[in-house]
Amino acid sequence: MNASEFRRRGKEMVDYVADYMEGIEKRQVYPDVEPGYLRPLIPASAPQEPDTFEDIINDVEKIIMPGVTHWHSPYFYAYFPTASSYPSILADMLSGAIGCVGFSWAASPACTELETVMMDWLGKMLKLPEEFLAGNVGEGGGVIQGSASEATLVALLAARTKVIHRLQATSPGLTTGAIMEKLVAYSSDQAHSSVERAGLIGGVKLKSIPSDSKFAMRSSALKEVLEKDKAAGLIPFFVVATLGTTSCCSFDNLLEVGPICNQENIWLHIDAAYAGSSFICPEFRPLLNGVEFADSFNFNPHKWLLVNFDCSAMWVKKRTDLTGAFKLDPLYLKHSHQDSGLITDYRHWQLPLGRRFRSLKMWFVFRMYGVKGLQAYIRKHVQLSHEFESLVRQDPRFEICAAVTLGLVCFRLKGSNQLNEALLESINNAKKIHLVPCHLRDNFVLRFAICSRTVESAHIHFAWDHIREKASELLKANTKGK
Ligand SMILES: *Cc1c(COP(=O)(O)O)cnc(C)c1O
Repeated sequence: MNASEFRRRGKEMVDYVADYMEGIEKRQVYPDVEPGYLRPLIPASAPQEPDTFEDIINDVEKIIMPGVTHWHSPYFYAYFPTASSYPSILADMLSGAIGCVGFSWAASPACTELETVMMDWLGKMLKLPEEFLAGNVGEGGGVIQGSASEATLVALLAARTKVIHRLQATSPGLTTGAIMEKLVAYSSDQAHSSVERAGLIGGVKLKSIPSDSKFAMRSSALKEVLEKDKAAGLIPFFVVATLGTTSCCSFDNLLEVGPICNQENIWLHIDAAYAGSSFICPEFRPLLNGVEFADSFNFNPHKWLLVNFDCSAMWVKKRTDLTGAFKLDPLYLKHSHQDSGLITDYRHWQLPLGRRFRSLKMWFVFRMYGVKGLQAYIRKHVQLSHEFESLVRQDPRFEICAAVTLGLVCFRLKGSNQLNEALLESINNAKKIHLVPCHLRDNFVLRFAICSRTVESAHIHFAWDHIREKASELLKANTKGK
C-alpha cells in the first residue's frame, strides 16, 4: 500500500467507522456465535500472495462483526463502560503514524513531555493535592499505565522495595527473603480481583478486610487485622482502598483508612478505576476526600472519560519511589540528558520497556470536549442511572441492592438467587440488551451500568420494559409450575 492508496482507503475506513457508530443501535448487542466459530471461516495459514484491501474489508463484515460484542451499543449495560470518542480515535490514528516507542525522554521527547503535562492537566481537573503533580519542580507526577491492574502491581512492587530498603537500613543483617515472608498487603473483600493477582505476582500475602453493611472498608475492621498481624510478627506494608468497587460501586472510607496507613508507615494505593472520572465534577469530588493520605492514586480515563483503551492514569507523590524500585540503565538505553534531573524516563515508572504515544488521546479529548463537556457527559450518565433506579423502585417485585452514587444500579427480583439467575439468563439469551451479574454477600444481583456514549433516556426505558417483561414471563411460568 503506497501513500495514495492509503489516502483512499483511509477515507473509506473513516466512513466505515462512522457508519458503524451511527448504525450500532441496529446491530444485536451480543453475538450469536459459539466458541470456535471463527477458525473454519478463515484459511489455516497466512496467504503466500497478498490479498487485496477489498477482500479484507469484505471479510470484516462476514467474519469479524458476527462475533463482536458491541460495547458501544446503547443496549450494552454490562461490566463498566469502556470509553470511545471520535477525537480519541483520531488521536490514536496519529499515534499509530508517529509510531514511536517513548521509553525515555530521548526516545521521543514530545511523547514524554506531553504525557507529563496531560497528567498534570488531569490531576488539576480532579483537584488532586499539589504533591501528586509534576509541575516544574514537584517530587510527584503522573504516568499512563496500560490498565488499573498494572498500576496496582507497580504500586505494590514499589511499596515492597521501599519497605525492604527501610528495614534493611536499620537491620543490615535482614535478608530480602526473610522480610518478604512476613510482608502483608490488605484490601477490602470488595476489591477487584486484580488486587489479589498483584499480591500473587508480587509474592506477598494479601488479606481481605471484611467490608461493612454498605460494602465499604472501615478503620475498625482494618485495625483489628493489622493488630493481630503485627502481634504475630508480620509486616503490614500496603493497603489498596477502592473508590467505586466493581460489584456495586461502593467507596472505602478513605478518611478513616488513610490516617491509619500514614501512622503505620503503610503505602496507601487508591484504585478508582471506574469512579475516578466522576471526580472532575465538583459535586462528586468529595468522594475523593482523603486522597491526601495516599502514596499512589489511579483511575482509568479509558473507562469513563472518553479516552479509548488503553489509558490508565496513575499518580505518585514521590516519583523516586517508583524509579528507585525499578531503575536499570543498560548502555543502549542511556542518553546525554538523563542525569540532568530535568527529564523523565518513563521506562522506570512501569513494567514494560516499550510504550505508545497515549497522551495524544488525552490531549485531543480534553481540548475538543473541554472540562465542561466532560463534566456534562459524566452528569448525563449519572442522571440516567438514577432514572433507571427510580423505575426499579416503582416495581414492588424488585429491590435495589446498593446505593446508587454514579452510573451503576444493582438490583434483583425479591426472591431466590435461582430466580434471579434465571432472569439474567432469559435477558441475555434474548440479546436485546446485555448485562452481567455480581454477588453481594450471599445475593445474586443484576448490574445495570450506563455505558454507551450515545445512550439516552428512551434506551433506558426500553431496557427496563424488557427486563420487566422477562420477569413477568418467569414469574408466570413459576406459578404455573407449582
Ligand atoms: C475495571 C476495574 C479494574 C480493572 O481495570 P483494568 O484497567 O482492566 O485493569 C480494577 N479495579 C476496579 C475497581 C475496576 O472497576
